Amino acid sequence: MRVFNFSSGPAVLPEAVLTQAAEDMLDWQGTGTGVMEMSHRGSAFSRIIEMARADLADLLGLPSDYAILFLQGGATQQFSQLPMNRLKKRGLAQYVVTGAWSAKALEAAGKVAPLTGGRVEAVAGDEESDFSDLPFFTDEAFDPEADYVHLCTNETIHGVEMDEAHLPNTQDAPLVADMSSHILSRPMDIRRYAMVYAGAQKNIGPSGLTVLIVRKDWLEETPPDWLPDLLSYQVQARHDSMLNTPPTFAIYVAGLVFQWLKAQGGVAAMERVNIEKAALLYACIDQSGGFYRNGVASEARSRMNVPFLLADPALIPLFLEHARSAGLIELKGHKSVGGLRASLYNALPIEAVRVLVDFMTHFAKTRA
Ligand SMILES: *Cc1c(COP(=O)(O)O)cnc(C)c1O
Repeated sequence: MRVFNFSSGPAVLPEAVLTQAAEDMLDWQGTGTGVMEMSHRGSAFSRIIEMARADLADLLGLPSDYAILFLQGGATQQFSQLPMNRLKKRGLAQYVVTGAWSAKALEAAGKVAPLTGGRVEAVAGDEESDFSDLPFFTDEAFDPEADYVHLCTNETIHGVEMDEAHLPNTQDAPLVADMSSHILSRPMDIRRYAMVYAGAQKNIGPSGLTVLIVRKDWLEETPPDWLPDLLSYQVQARHDSMLNTPPTFAIYVAGLVFQWLKAQGGVAAMERVNIEKAALLYACIDQSGGFYRNGVASEARSRMNVPFLLADPALIPLFLEHARSAGLIELKGHKSVGGLRASLYNALPIEAVRVLVDFMTHFAKTRA
């Protein structure tokens, strides 16, 4: 019996994808062997990775001057790898901090800066933020000469999402976005970014894979001599992400997810369902008379990750226990913010949100 899984990641995968992967486990397309057991240099796997790349490019409407890399180390590795590759000697990288993950990215870059001889700084917004809204930035806050400006377009822990209309104007400084928890959940104009990255385990596939989308001019510049090949975007691109053994099974499952997304109608169709899912849950929270509360400003509320508090936090263990009995799991909030959280990624069916909302309404009625 499958339950409704609201995990923030590793997260729910489409059931059709899991069924297909299970079917292929012992014998992929008559080869007599499973994908996990295949050489990454063989023709069968080459087809798998090429197809995954082509389908992802298709879903994103990727312009031809961008490349897709399949890397490892999670989104966290990118926090360090990005400045290693792109923060120049005497250069500057600016960080927009809208929540826990962008703060971590800044901290990691700060550790790398002395290696490259560059500098990192947080961009000053209009106010001290408790991460319940998107800060406002004047254009002057950004240095047009900066090597890059980093931001996280969906803060998984604080439930703050930045849509394209809210992207700051960084003038000529290239933008880099951590999109781990909302990539493919809505149409996005990749041209706004020099680079986008995402750990796969939220909206793409199994953990162990990191997807990188990078403008090709960034791959032409040679990184510092001391940078290990494995960490070099340029070397990885030249080797088609196969400098060493890539996470083959994770890439294969991600490829199945891309095909599933295309069959659903692509990201525009996903967005319509995601808007509906998020609206159902936020309405339930907002109309609970204060029993539940989400303090994020309405234009900054994430469609993917919905953190919420109970007026009486002592009820949380009971809420979680009853939810589990109702087949609703992984609703505990991140330990740094407490409370509860429901993640509503692409693969979570709207039915799951309907059941959750019914459960929450009933729980509020009986405990208020
Ligand atoms: C989960 C997450 C990360 C960390 O991902 P790992 O793959 O565990 O390194 C980074 N950024 C965001 C926005 C995330 O949601």
